[in-house]
Amino acid sequence: MMTIEERLALDKYEVDEESHIALDQAACAQCLHKYCLTVCPAKVYTQSEGQDAISVSHVACLECGTCIVACQGGGLTWNYPTGSMGVVYRYA
Ligand code: SF4
Ligand code: SF4
Repeated sequence: MMTIEERLALDKYEVDEESHIALDQAACAQCLHKYCLTVCPAKVYTQSEGQDAISVSHVACLECGTCIVACQGGGLTWNYPTGSMGVVYRYA
C-alpha cells in the first residue's frame, strides 16, 4: 500500500502565488485544540517548537475542506484558489 507521502507526490499543482488561506493569529493563539495542525492530510498548517504563530503552506492544499470543518476557533478564512489554480488531481 502506498504511503500518504507517496500518494501526495502523484498530485500536480498550479501554484497560485496569492494564498487562498488566511489565519487570524490572535484567534488561533486562543484556540484550544488547534485541530488544523493534525487534520490536514497535506500538512499545510505547522507550528514550530516554541512559536505561537501557525505557518500556512497554501501551495500544498488539496482543497479537501477538512480544516474548514475542523476549525472551531474562528481563526480560519479559506477560499478556493483563483480560477484554475490549485491542485490538479492525478492518481492520489
Ligand atoms: S482544505 Fe484540506 S488540504 Fe487544504 S488546508 Fe484544509 S485540510 Fe489541508
Ligand atoms: S483550528 Fe482554526 S482557530 Fe484553531 S489554530 Fe487552527 S485555524 Fe486557528
